[in-house]
This record gives sequence, C-alpha cells and structure tokens, in this order.
Amino acid sequence: MPVELLGKSVPELREFFAALGERPYRAAQLYHALYAERRFTFSAMSNFPAALRGRLAEEARITPPRVLRRFPSVDGSIRYLFSIGDAAGGDRPKPAQIESVFMPRDGRQTICVSTQAGCAVDCHFCLTAQLGLIRNLTAGEIVAQVLVALEENREQLAPQTNVVLMGQGEPLLNYDATMAAVRILLDPKGVALAPRHVTLSTSGIVPGIERLAQEKIRPSLAISLNASSDEQRDALMPINRKYPLAVLLEACRNYPLRPREYFTFEYVLIGGVNDTPEDARRVVRLLANIRAKMNLIPWNPGNLPYRAPTAESIEEFQRILVGKGVPTFVRYSRGQDVFAACGQLALMETPSPFVALQ
Ligand code: SF4
Repeated sequence: MPVELLGKSVPELREFFAALGERPYRAAQLYHALYAERRFTFSAMSNFPAALRGRLAEEARITPPRVLRRFPSVDGSIRYLFSIGDAAGGDRPKPAQIESVFMPRDGRQTICVSTQAGCAVDCHFCLTAQLGLIRNLTAGEIVAQVLVALEENREQLAPQTNVVLMGQGEPLLNYDATMAAVRILLDPKGVALAPRHVTLSTSGIVPGIERLAQEKIRPSLAISLNASSDEQRDALMPINRKYPLAVLLEACRNYPLRPREYFTFEYVLIGGVNDTPEDARRVVRLLANIRAKMNLIPWNPGNLPYRAPTAESIEEFQRILVGKGVPTFVRYSRGQDVFAACGQLALMETPSPFVALQ
C-alpha cells in the first residue's frame, strides 16, 4: 500500500527513505518540495532523478484535499468545500467533507482551517456543532488546507499569511495531529509562518491548554469565552460544565506567555443573551491579572434562534472593556453571504453563485 507523505515531518520522511534504501538527505528535499514549494506530484520534483521519481510514484502518494466547490463572497473571501479521505477503506482515513476559508485583506491573507470534520463540543451558537463529530483530521489534512488555499490563490498572494485554526472542530481534542501540522506551518524550512501569525482557537479544553503550555514551538492561543458567568456559559457552551470559568481562567493565568504575547479572548455578542453593560463589567473582573485582548464578534444570523446585538450594545460593551484597560476590537466576520463566518461552517449550500470544480 503506498505511503501518504503529506503531513510527514523530516524525521518521518527520513524513515520512509531509509526503508526504500535511499539517502537521508532526500527527506529534507522532499519536505521542502511539499511544504515550501507546494508541489503535490512527484513528476514536478525535478531535483529528484527520474528513477527515484518513478519509485516514489509506486511506493508513496501525496493526496491534497480535493476542492469540491468554491463559494466566493462579495467581500473577496472564498469558502472552500473539500473532500478528504479514501473510500478504499482499510487503514486510510475515512471519506469526509470539510471547509476552509481564504480571506484576503490589507496586505495579507488569513486562512481559516478545520481540525476535525464536524465537532463534538456542541456550542449552542455554532452551526458546525449540528454536524456532530465525524472524525479527526490527520496532520496532512490540516496542513494541506493551507497549502491548497495558497496554491488556489497564488496569483494574488500578499506577502503575509495568517492561519487560524478556527474552522470545523476543536483543535485541542485532536491535539497530536493539530500540533504536528502547526510544527510544519511554523518551521522556517516548511511553510515558514511566524508563530504570532498562527492562532489556535479553543472552546476551553483545559488539559489541552496545559499541554500546549509545555510546548517549545506553539501557536498563539485564542479562547472562545462568550459569556460573563458560569450560568450563562453553561447554557451556551456545555463544555463549561466540565471546565468552568474559574478552572479555565486559572489555566490561562498559569500559561507561560512570551514577552509581548497576549491571550486573545473571543466573545460572540448575542443580542439579549450576553451583551449587556453588566456582562461587560463581569468580563473585566474575570480577566483580572490575565494579559488579554478581546475580540467582540457580533452574532452572525444563521439557522439558530438568536439575534444580532444592536450597534449601541456593541459600542457600549467595547467602551467598558477599553475603559478598564482591556484592548478590545470588534470583528465583523467575513464571508457572511456564503456561510463562511465564525460559527457558520456546517457544509451549507448557499444561493450565492459558486464555482463547481467537478
Ligand atoms: S464553536 Fe468550535 S468548539 Fe464550539 S461547536 Fe463550533 S466548532 Fe466546535
């Protein structure tokens, strides 16, 4: 059975070449071709002799996710619907569909990628939750979403790429594959992104946060807060019953932030649910002694029984946090017309025009 190479590290590739009886330096060459040059076929790897390319074609494979559809938004974002996995069964990852979003803006592109197909966490404001967990993604499937989005848009790439692990899934519940992908993304010999440009967003899986704290190479961390009390958070995010606010925020206080590094807290503002001035004041108290920035994300209309906050409540909430020294930004999600926005990745078909590639 051919070996899948996408997602492999240099030591893993070295092992693969050793098993073929090839020299170890081939591993670094292939790693560079895959992740720095984004070459997905052996025939495109012209620095390998023809005989080796032929051998690789027999013994290995490179399987990037297949673009099923593109949903371009009027704001320039593109939501991708990918097909992954292998219907052949056996040890191969099972077939699934996942989504990523490419968002070009202000001299950079931000790519939002999935770490699981579906999600088991069941945040009540999130459309992805309605899918349930289908399966974990492999490291290759995670990193390849970035590579394919970059290749798809290669003519219009800005110098800076940001990656946010905020698509379908809870990254810290697929820890090993997510971190293997992150290491490739942050490796100067791999995709070569800066650690401050790669952000992992979690619903608050405390053991995962504690594990991440031990890593030498790690992304920036964002915590999806969304509530100002346990009662409120229990109702919106049942995971809070397992890891309540006091436990979650204690893990944040113990986290070894680097100089000038901040936690990003995300707060989806839902009209009439968590958007009052009293909520804002409680959030300020919760974040005491944590080096935190806050992103306020006004609720995106979806097939859920919530309403968007008013412009006045957004402004007042921000004013209270900023007044108490918490840098606070209002982030209007992009791609709303194609269901690409935060909490909207649920394999939705849209009435918007899309480009079908098959
Ligand atoms: S918000 Fe994130 S963690 Fe919560 S259900 Fe949606 S995908 Fe899962």
